[in-house]
Amino acid sequence: MNAASSAAERYAADVLIKIAYVGICHSDIHNARDDWSPGTYPMVPGHEIAGIVTEVGSAVTTFKPGDRVGVGCFVDSCGACDACRSGEEQFCNHKTMTYNSKDGDGNITYGGYSTHIVVREPYVLRIPDTLSPESAAPLPCAGITTYSPLRHYRPGPGRRVAVIGMGGLGHMAVQYAHAMGADVTVISQTRAKEADGRRFGASDYRAMSEPDTLKALRGSFDLIINTVSADLDITALLHTLRLDGTLVFVGLPVAPQAFQVSALTSRRRSIAGSNIGGIRETQEMLDFSAAHGITAQVEVITADEVTEAYDRVVESAVRYRFVIDAATI
Ligand code: NAP
Ligand code: ZN
Repeated sequence: MNAASSAAERYAADVLIKIAYVGICHSDIHNARDDWSPGTYPMVPGHEIAGIVTEVGSAVTTFKPGDRVGVGCFVDSCGACDACRSGEEQFCNHKTMTYNSKDGDGNITYGGYSTHIVVREPYVLRIPDTLSPESAAPLPCAGITTYSPLRHYRPGPGRRVAVIGMGGLGHMAVQYAHAMGADVTVISQTRAKEADGRRFGASDYRAMSEPDTLKALRGSFDLIINTVSADLDITALLHTLRLDGTLVFVGLPVAPQAFQVSALTSRRRSIAGSNIGGIRETQEMLDFSAAHGITAQVEVITADEVTEAYDRVVESAVRYRFVIDAATI
């Protein structure tokens, strides 16, 4: 086989996507500002991508030019481990993240703050026709990260769910938990977003800034989705759970978190974490969103507004996701 034909075979499963919109996830800020670990530079963040297929490799069967597609946090995985075989590629030890990562050839990956991206067919998502591209862009991260733990713990009718922090992830969590039939409470820093929270489906809204907020909620919830990356009083949060309740971390605080163990033992409570979702479940989330009319509420910005947008995300001043119009890149 000559070099040209081996390259053609190798890239036969590739899909070339013209990016239309890309969301700004708080993880982009953690990465760009080296909050977690030193990044690789130059870095092109962006893992909440919506666009249009412009070209496909010869082996691609499920997408064609013109299709509306999305890309999330990873663009490849080993395909052979237990996690990959069970469709939970987000737990594959050898997955390739969409940016700040190395692909199978050892090349650095660059993300969605860009005009185009090439992704192998199995890692491309289909965006349902009824979702607008700008409000669908955040779903492959903010959507799946909150949908996945809700699907896992299945809090249906009669169950009470608390969502801590109503930012990009939090405003999706409220909508999904409500659509799944749960009774939803938002616990925010202040009441500034209360009207929005109720519009997204919350039946109750509490502010940490008010005295004894968590004390008044003791024994209330079956499930807590914590989207906050700041340090919170984990012991007090655990006490708001009922018997057998679970506190799920999706927010990623940088510092180790401490809590009183008796807050677990006294009501057989659990602490858990959840990490984005697999491709199959991410597609399910997109279809569920379309079926229930759920989208991200976004503020569309131009590429030269990104730095200011990062500051506004950190100040919890975005309603509720910034999305970059890729035509301005
Ligand atoms: P975001 O839009 O900034 O939302 C976070 C929310 O946390 C804010 O809107 C705010 O809500 C609350 N908050 C902020 N500072 C706080 C403080 N000092 N004390 C208490 N609450 C505070 O961020 P995001 O994009 O939703 O991401 C949230 C976290 O999830 C980040 O750590 C991100 O890296 C992580 N993440 C994890 C995964 C995963 O797979 N596990 C995936 C994506 C993102 P209120 O204004 O309502 O208080
Ligand atoms: Zn993200």
